[in-house]
Amino acid sequence: YNRQRLLVVANRLPVSAVRRGEDSWSLEISAGGLVSALLGVKEFEARWIGWAGVNVPDEVGQKALTKALAEKRCIPVFLDEEIVHQYSNGYCNNILWPLFHYLGLPQEDRLATTRSFQSQFAAYKKANQMFADVVSEHYEEGDVVWCHDYHLMFLPKCLKEYNSKMKVGWFLHTPFPSSEIHRTLPSRSELLRSVLAADLVGFHTYDYARHFVSACTRILGLEGTPEGVEDQGRLTRVAAFPIGIDSERFIRALEVPDVIQNMKELKERFAGRKVMLGVDRLDMIKGIPQKILAFEKFLEENASWRDKVVLLQIAVPTRTDVPEYQKLTSQVHEIVGRINGRFGTLTAVPIHHLDRSLDFYALCALYAVTDVALVTSLRDGMNLVSYEFVACQEAKKGVLILSEFAGAAQSLGAGAILVNPWNITEVAASIGQALNMSPEERKKRHRHNFHHVKTHTAQEWAETFVSELNDTVIEAQLRI
Ligand code: UDP
Repeated sequence: YNRQRLLVVANRLPVSAVRRGEDSWSLEISAGGLVSALLGVKEFEARWIGWAGVNVPDEVGQKALTKALAEKRCIPVFLDEEIVHQYSNGYCNNILWPLFHYLGLPQEDRLATTRSFQSQFAAYKKANQMFADVVSEHYEEGDVVWCHDYHLMFLPKCLKEYNSKMKVGWFLHTPFPSSEIHRTLPSRSELLRSVLAADLVGFHTYDYARHFVSACTRILGLEGTPEGVEDQGRLTRVAAFPIGIDSERFIRALEVPDVIQNMKELKERFAGRKVMLGVDRLDMIKGIPQKILAFEKFLEENASWRDKVVLLQIAVPTRTDVPEYQKLTSQVHEIVGRINGRFGTLTAVPIHHLDRSLDFYALCALYAVTDVALVTSLRDGMNLVSYEFVACQEAKKGVLILSEFAGAAQSLGAGAILVNPWNITEVAASIGQALNMSPEERKKRHRHNFHHVKTHTAQEWAETFVSELNDTVIEAQLRI
């Protein structure tokens, strides 16, 4: 039988493309959460539509890249440098990202942003229209179109204008903020209305979905129902679909000989000390300075632990060309340097801070040897690092300290120690609680988390969203 076709539209394609010659490209699939989720979904035939992350001004290059991508079931949207600058760096990363994560901007940045707002929003709409053009070129009747994230809030409307029968879903991977925050956006109504053009709108948590519905009722004056948002008899279904991970992939990785060897080396390297771990992109939302200050406070108050614990912080560089991110990097370096100077000895330092990423296997080994993972996001759509840590802890049954402002707190709350990352005293105390926790309690908490992570997979998430989208469209047809 014919499988239903699923067109997955996201800002970035799940590949990195490097140009090797005038008409040759080398491609590498990047196995993020979304990719492994959809690889596991067997009942749909998925195709990807998005930007390949490179500027390809010439036609020869575009043709060659399109052909190479087709083998990976990917379809490129070509955006030129100016559009990328205004749409992606500008509107998406400078305006929507901080706003959706409740982050204030420094005053002068805020003013500069306010002035460039209109042109950036125009570029955003233009870019979304370019995505819609590519989708409509490849759309066949019966296809499901799944739009992803804050980059493409304008897309559902563009798609429905092209074909009102198209099945369109939209999923947000970040938080959706309180309507009082969304209200400050000059384009607040236009964005909400274009998202509402979708048949199904999904969020990680019930809270984000509720925030979205109240933004629609308060800002647009529409009616919120338990099912979603109603506008003149037409319903947009709104619901929570918490994402998961491909847990088996992590569990299997721990049996790979290289990983086992790596774990052995790490255990020897840190013998006699408890290992605490942080893994984050070096982004404002991750609360890295707050985490490190809490660790300092713990060392300050617990002299006996000073040579018995180490914090490994993997800080993956991100948006390194942006001054605010550069400032964060030097701020973190300064704090780490101060603490290592203060509590280090000739042979050991309390914090190992790495400005780099690790490959999948190295990351798994690190997760597996960790005693306490520290996730202190100030806001985070879900936070997959917390899930991945739990998946790798079947043997060790380590403790997860988790920010209550991460979406994951809704699902791992009963097994983790939940903290307010702004409360350094509370986080320092929970570090002590985690390090001193009895094996029985660790086991009990881990069992809860592990069961959740194993049963709520990325694959199940994708299947649930798409079948809900199909059902929503059928129900809407019955209502007419
Ligand atoms: N990750 C990685 N290499 C690293 C550090 C992290 O591949 O060195 C991955 C990690 O496995 C996880 C993702 O990056 O899947 C981070 O996802 P999360 O939801 O925690 O945060 P985001 O970066 O999406 O805000």
